[in-house]
Amino acid sequence: MTRSAPIPPGSTIGILGSGQLGRMTALAAAALGYRCHIFSPDEASPAGQVAAAETVADYTDHDALASFAAAVDVVTFEFENIPHESVQLLERLRPVRPGWQALQVSQDRLVEKDFLRSLEVRTADYRAVAGPEELAAAAADLGGEGVLKTTRFGYDGKGQVRIRPGTDLNDAWREMGGRVGILEAFVDFEREISVIVARSADGSEAAYVPVENRHKDHILHMTLAPADIAPETAAEADAIARKIARSLDIVGLLAVEMFVTKDGGVLVNELAPRPHNSGHWTMDACVTGQFEQFVRAVCGLPLGSPERLCDATMTNLLDRDVDRWPEILSEPNAKLHLYGKAEVRPGRKMGHVNRLDVSAKKD
Ligand code: AMP
Repeated sequence: MTRSAPIPPGSTIGILGSGQLGRMTALAAAALGYRCHIFSPDEASPAGQVAAAETVADYTDHDALASFAAAVDVVTFEFENIPHESVQLLERLRPVRPGWQALQVSQDRLVEKDFLRSLEVRTADYRAVAGPEELAAAAADLGGEGVLKTTRFGYDGKGQVRIRPGTDLNDAWREMGGRVGILEAFVDFEREISVIVARSADGSEAAYVPVENRHKDHILHMTLAPADIAPETAAEADAIARKIARSLDIVGLLAVEMFVTKDGGVLVNELAPRPHNSGHWTMDACVTGQFEQFVRAVCGLPLGSPERLCDATMTNLLDRDVDRWPEILSEPNAKLHLYGKAEVRPGRKMGHVNRLDVSAKKD
């Protein structure tokens, strides 16, 4: 099969990971006539509930991965921490989109930052640190302040410790919990934004407008679409996201999280080669939502228009916020999305609500 030959409706998309991103991908895929087969170690998962087929097995179970590959036409994933050997095995059997390069870069914050630097994309200043002594030297180097992060498996602020003058660095190292860390200079940002760009195997691209992301306790709380930033800043953010997507040869989606500094500069914080929480607003406020766009890109279909139909905000419903579903349903311009998670845990993403500003339609 050539790289850009379409995988037609009726085919089966294999998805590694079974959370809400997989669920919403499976729903969008079904609307285009595809079947999805979910692979993850979890029983009764959000994605498994809505998919045509599900394999419950560990990501390192090579027999299960081989049977999964035999049952699908293309493989993608809804999170990036897939072991390299598993991706290699799958790549020998079926197209994996995006491929290993995008995963490898986004699995490790140090590899990611070095890669961004190699593209001359600006990031916060950073130092690799392998222990408390190196941390002390790096903190001194970066002016005594920073954010210590594990290089691998960190998400939603987990494995992150704020470093200030006087912070006990031995405690900070223990709290971070990783074997290798990265100390980033603290960015006194004006706002956080992100751009999601879709890219096809034939090189065609479509990017959503930059949005602003507001966090609470390191977890995304709200996305405001569009971001209230200068047109030049928006153009720079868009150009950066496209440049990274091309350099990683993304086939699928790439979300690029960025800081806008007080002088209007744009620094890249993090990459995610998949649908992203900050793109959930597109489901109801754009011609083509991010999950449909993801399916189109992965299956080699023409990309849809990312055009914004109206302004919108997306608010995550974390743990007990979900109990507000009846009031949300009675709001005239609110669109409720629930993830089918039975168990409420502190900080767990249970759903989200998109509030559409239908009076702010684009001209
Ligand atoms: P991350 O897991 O890297 O996306 O970080 C989670 C959140 O922590 C970000 O969205 C920021 O709000 C904050 N943060 C991360 N890195 C920095 C930094 N270098 N300077 C200031 N704030 C940061």
